[in-house]
Amino acid sequence: MFRAKLAVLLAVLLAALACFGSAYTANPKLVVILIIDQFRGDYLERYHSEFGPNGFRLFTDRGAYFPACYYQYANTRTAPGHATIATGAYSPAHGIFSNDWWDPAQKRMVSSVEDSATKLIGAEVEGVGASPHNLLAGTLGDELRLATQGQSRVYGIALKERAAILSTGYSANGAFWIDADSGAWLTSTYYMSAPPRWLLAFNGGDSAKKYLNQEWKDTDGTLLASTAPHNFDNGKPVPYYELVGSTPFGNDYEFDFARELIQQEKLGYGAVTDLLVISLSANDILGHMSGPDAPEMRAMALALDRQIGDFVSFLNQQYGQGQFWIVLTADHGVAPLHATDKHLNLPAQSPSSADLRSRLNQELSSRLRKQGEYVRSVSYPIVFVNSEAFPPNVSESEAEADVAEAMKSNGFLNAFTKEQMSNGELPPTPLGHLYLNSYSPYGGAWVMGVPTPFSYVAAGIDIANHGAPYSYDQHVPLAFYGPAFKPGVYRDQVEPIDLAPTLAVMLGINKPTSSSGRVLTEAIAQRAGSDEPASARPSRPRAPKESHP
Ligand SMILES: [Zn+2]
Repeated sequence: MFRAKLAVLLAVLLAALACFGSAYTANPKLVVILIIDQFRGDYLERYHSEFGPNGFRLFTDRGAYFPACYYQYANTRTAPGHATIATGAYSPAHGIFSNDWWDPAQKRMVSSVEDSATKLIGAEVEGVGASPHNLLAGTLGDELRLATQGQSRVYGIALKERAAILSTGYSANGAFWIDADSGAWLTSTYYMSAPPRWLLAFNGGDSAKKYLNQEWKDTDGTLLASTAPHNFDNGKPVPYYELVGSTPFGNDYEFDFARELIQQEKLGYGAVTDLLVISLSANDILGHMSGPDAPEMRAMALALDRQIGDFVSFLNQQYGQGQFWIVLTADHGVAPLHATDKHLNLPAQSPSSADLRSRLNQELSSRLRKQGEYVRSVSYPIVFVNSEAFPPNVSESEAEADVAEAMKSNGFLNAFTKEQMSNGELPPTPLGHLYLNSYSPYGGAWVMGVPTPFSYVAAGIDIANHGAPYSYDQHVPLAFYGPAFKPGVYRDQVEPIDLAPTLAVMLGINKPTSSSGRVLTEAIAQRAGSDEPASARPSRPRAPKESHP
């Protein structure tokens, strides 16, 4: 009798468990955020038919996929993009409005993350350390650390230091990036007083060297690049960052490091959820050199498709299916090449920063009837103003207004001063909204220009660029995969600031301090233990009309 009752009870329990088989718990072992540096949202559609089943298609075909994700700000660059993803907020909240800016205290241009209070560790290299000291908002990683009183571990990896640092935040356990010359992995004393032994062992082995002297071939065997060490025309050696970093071997190198970090730090093996952010820099390094429509970019996307597939199967081996969540996005897109614009009769300008600076200085010198260096530097389309060069009775905001006027007669559609952006004195238009979202208190006096569509600065080895308030620079992938997400294609327009608050609500933690994003409730699966009947939220199989051709 007792045995029979027990059997019935067991059967009921098993049935209840089975009901929750497709539901999620709020504590996956690991959350991975993959940020591809310079990866336009349309690439996922463009190459979809060529992708294998387990790479990008994991996201587009089996995940919650948002094909219309656009940054709603003007400053579409690496540092602001990573800060925006992590904080779920735009530049007025997190402060990062450019990769570098003028520092009035030090009277020089500084990078968004350089921090003279810290030192680089991991290898013998020159230069100051780096930290998130300029961030003005908390991140998803910070909230995870707070919610678990530091038990959750948060790590960032990228070839670029700003990407590893800004995507993780203040309380991260570590951010790792490479020394441009040697490829050795570095971190800073902000995170730890000494490099872990495994890091030194990784750098001491052949991890970096094995990607030198390699040939990168297209699927049809065409040689696309070689990583044999060589010199620039000026006799200086091409640094590892460019040599290997502009090929798929750069992404291999990052995934190798990510696997090592996961195993050495035992990420995802604790009682609480850990977070790993991997920013894949190689696509941006190559993208600047080749432009978005080159065969190399296609080959890079197809290679990354395989690399992501391999990494996901590694995660499956480590944690088991359904025990991790993985998110895909990018920090910005890129403009079509000027050659493409010309071919298609698109009216693009191709200014040079140096030319623009001297034209603006000439115009201001004649207007003010005094020769002067009124413009310090141009980080197109941002112009840094040397307010000290203006007459003493001219205020900083008047100096900015003078420079803005000069910009309007030198190729810009419009130009907004930092003062205007600070006070919200912008046109009540969609464009005005983008510039409102681009303000930062940093950088001394400056003006942000509105370039004409398709215009950008091309100089040196960079023939393509980004940084404009237009769709080609704002459009990025956004997709979630894991039991917490309801598979489907969600075509409403969303923003990268929605990523952090969506993950936060599903992890059951606070959203980042200043996040203004929307929780993407349409993509949320039913939570285990919820008393909501499972039938209320059926997982939505993809309708045939939504599938890809
Ligand atoms: Zn870039």
